[in-house]
Amino acid sequence: MLALKKFIPCYASAPCIKTHTALLAAWIESNILLQLASAPFDKQDETLVPEAGSCVNCPKRTGFNKLLFPDVRKDSCTSPDCFRAKIDASVKKTLETKPQLIQISAAWNSREGAPLGRNQYVELEIKKPKANGASTKLSAVQKPCDKMTEAIVMDGGKRGQVVKVCADPACRTHHPNTPSPQQVERERAEERKRIEKEKLAITTRHRVLATILQRASAPLKKADLLAVAHYLIGHLSYSQVPVLAKRHKVEAKKDSASAQELLAKQVGTYDEAELCKLLLEISLLDSAYQRSTASRDDVLMDAAKRYRVDTERLQKAVAEELAAKREKKTKAGAKPKNRKTA
Ligand SMILES: [Zn+2]
Ligand SMILES: [Zn+2]
Ligand SMILES: [Zn+2]
Repeated sequence: MLALKKFIPCYASAPCIKTHTALLAAWIESNILLQLASAPFDKQDETLVPEAGSCVNCPKRTGFNKLLFPDVRKDSCTSPDCFRAKIDASVKKTLETKPQLIQISAAWNSREGAPLGRNQYVELEIKKPKANGASTKLSAVQKPCDKMTEAIVMDGGKRGQVVKVCADPACRTHHPNTPSPQQVERERAEERKRIEKEKLAITTRHRVLATILQRASAPLKKADLLAVAHYLIGHLSYSQVPVLAKRHKVEAKKDSASAQELLAKQVGTYDEAELCKLLLEISLLDSAYQRSTASRDDVLMDAAKRYRVDTERLQKAVAEELAAKREKKTKAGAKPKNRKTA
């Protein structure tokens, strides 16, 4: 990819095309064929991957077979599996002999415990000082620092290579963008101030609530009842909204306010007695609309007991009504004009 990057600045100028072709050839050679010269392992080592042997005697090496690969200038390995196995073995060997090596990744970010991402280290290309002592202008990555250390590349095209890096965020030479201690201190102070402000606001609100509760007494005043009603309407469940809306003859039309909003508006016109009934109604809604009374705590029946409702008599009356309706229906069904049930 580095070679490709070099294309970009001058791709429009014609004289460059020849150079580009050469660069492309070099790029293919180093990326498609697996160049042995820059490989991080010892090409002569017979024991690195014992079953593969050394690359010197390997028939998969282009230099080994000049007849098959006459055009490849640099000695390359044509077996990705063999090449990878040797890199893996060499990484293992390097880490065994130098466990202190920092493990780095070609990726920008890295997870905790994974090789260090590029956002956390700078790879250095240290230039040896010129013999004549002439001082050339060095860029930051060409300068050493006292935090400079060796690292092994764990992934990407340079996997297995040992390079020099600076991974100290406090190094001003290689990490100039990391905030200075003063800046960090200033940011911390601002953060502390923000937290203080938040703490003050929330504590004050808690205190306000405590004072309200101290002053509130039974029975609640109309405005309080309305506040509770609005809160409950705002927190109705998805299935409760249409039920309550229907009971209060509120109908949401398309493209207008929601049934919840209309309900909230309507209860604003209720008096204390109506508001009290509404609060109880919302509390008993689920219980009243459930078909079975399987659950042990039946809030509707508890309320019925409190209000001395003769549930048995009610049930009897309902049974009679239903029976009467059924009878009417069978009579209607017996007539020749078989009307559909209303
Ligand atoms: Zn081989
Ligand atoms: Zn090979
Ligand atoms: Zn540094």
